[in-house]
Amino acid sequence: MPLTAPRILVVEDEPVINQAVTERLQGSGYDVVQAWDGPGAVALCAETSPDLVVLDVMLPGFDGHEVCRRIQAQRPVPVLMLTARDDEADILVGLGVGADDYLTKPFRMRELVARVAALLRRVERAAELADRSPAPLGDLGDLHVDAASRRVRVGGDEVHLTPTEFDLLLCLAGSPGTVLTREHLYAEVWGWSGASGTRTVDSHVKALRAKIGAHRVRTVHGVGYALETGTSA
Ligand code: CA
Repeated sequence: MPLTAPRILVVEDEPVINQAVTERLQGSGYDVVQAWDGPGAVALCAETSPDLVVLDVMLPGFDGHEVCRRIQAQRPVPVLMLTARDDEADILVGLGVGADDYLTKPFRMRELVARVAALLRRVERAAELADRSPAPLGDLGDLHVDAASRRVRVGGDEVHLTPTEFDLLLCLAGSPGTVLTREHLYAEVWGWSGASGTRTVDSHVKALRAKIGAHRVRTVHGVGYALETGTSA
């Protein structure tokens, strides 16, 4: 148990939702700070250094994408996005703004709390793993993944991945050529098993493909994904 409760910044302009989320998270033992618009969220994030941000997309001032970009520029912080539609979530992740997970409205409070807890655990686990020497990765052709420095090169060129995209790639690269189910990937990378998370995986795979080359990640429909080992397209 940490000595102090993790701090969560809740950003949502609808007072009823903001208050309901805040109270539920407080009831689960978190220290919660609230913001109601884009500029307020960025300022409060800098001021209070939350451990996680629950962020609505549609906000006055500027929207959740811009908030995400600006707070990630300050320092890396896990972000759980609240979106109105599934396809909006796709766009979010595709833009590479740094959202780690998302929930589509309307959502169950229980699921929100579970996702928050899983994201916080994931950050903790990543910190622990960083202290260990990473297992050597298989031959990935001209794709070079350095787990220790968290850097990726394709050919000779460095590719910039979000922390979530990197974790997903690292998971796939642990068993190149092997099909990993979406459920397995969600459990491994996001640290929580739930069928509703599989779309999160799809969106992040799409974003990863756009950065490292679509042919490098093979889709096995209805099952999952595999990292291709060869360099041929
Ligand atoms: Ca809103």
